[in-house]
Amino acid sequence: MGITQKNKAMGIIEGLRSAVVAGFAEGYKRGAVLQTANAKTIKGESLGVLTGICYLAPASESGVMNVCTFATEGCKEACLYDSGRSKIFPDIKRARIGKTVWLWEDRESFLNALRRDIKALIREAEREGLKPAVRFNGTSDLPWVAMMMSREFPQVMFYDYTKLPKSWLRTRYNYQLTFSYSGENLAECMEALAHGVNVSVVFDTKRGASLPAEWMGYRVIDGDEHDVRFLDPRGVIVGLRAKGEAKKVTSSFVVQSQLIQIGAAA
Ligand code: SF4
Repeated sequence: MGITQKNKAMGIIEGLRSAVVAGFAEGYKRGAVLQTANAKTIKGESLGVLTGICYLAPASESGVMNVCTFATEGCKEACLYDSGRSKIFPDIKRARIGKTVWLWEDRESFLNALRRDIKALIREAEREGLKPAVRFNGTSDLPWVAMMMSREFPQVMFYDYTKLPKSWLRTRYNYQLTFSYSGENLAECMEALAHGVNVSVVFDTKRGASLPAEWMGYRVIDGDEHDVRFLDPRGVIVGLRAKGEAKKVTSSFVVQSQLIQIGAAA
């Protein structure tokens, strides 16, 4: 089911509300907020980085709060929420909605659980000889959470994708942002690049095929090789291949690589 389709969220939320506050808040378990074991984090480990990612219910999908105020219809349609296992396993979707309701209903206990997850991540990274990193906004765009945590945990590297303009004003030595092209924010992309912030662009390139060499005059790097965005060189486009629902998207959110190549040859 796509994000633009109404998904019975209200019914799920009503069932979750009391359980969230009574359960999540009182019975903290490691990994309540951050996940460390998935395809993205495994690629990072081979680069010496242990990443914890938080997946909330994107945009207004939770029914209680909008966690992506600059989301467009195109990006919502294509959102990673539906590209991963959440589409196959409804429990994952339910857990993400539950986590978002928890943040909305009881911010302090949510943030305390996040702090405990970050401390556990630091200990695990130390044991394994890896650098700890956190991507709070796996499927959201709430920079204040990551900014707050990056100040509290200077030894951890935080990084996110964002569509909120003027991203360079929110970065610091341990919080790096990659600005995301939505199909409707080209001027903001150019502004971000001019301020040294990389821009991610989703192309219709198939898995295994090469991404375009350039976009808007900037070199494209292959962002699917790993997810550790703070290791990327500066001043580049982070090219991503459309996955899941994004493959079906016809909006300008997904850039047609063939048109770029034709333009370059002309
Ligand atoms: S802003 Fe990002 S996380 Fe939010 S709906 Fe769009 S693609 Fe998904």
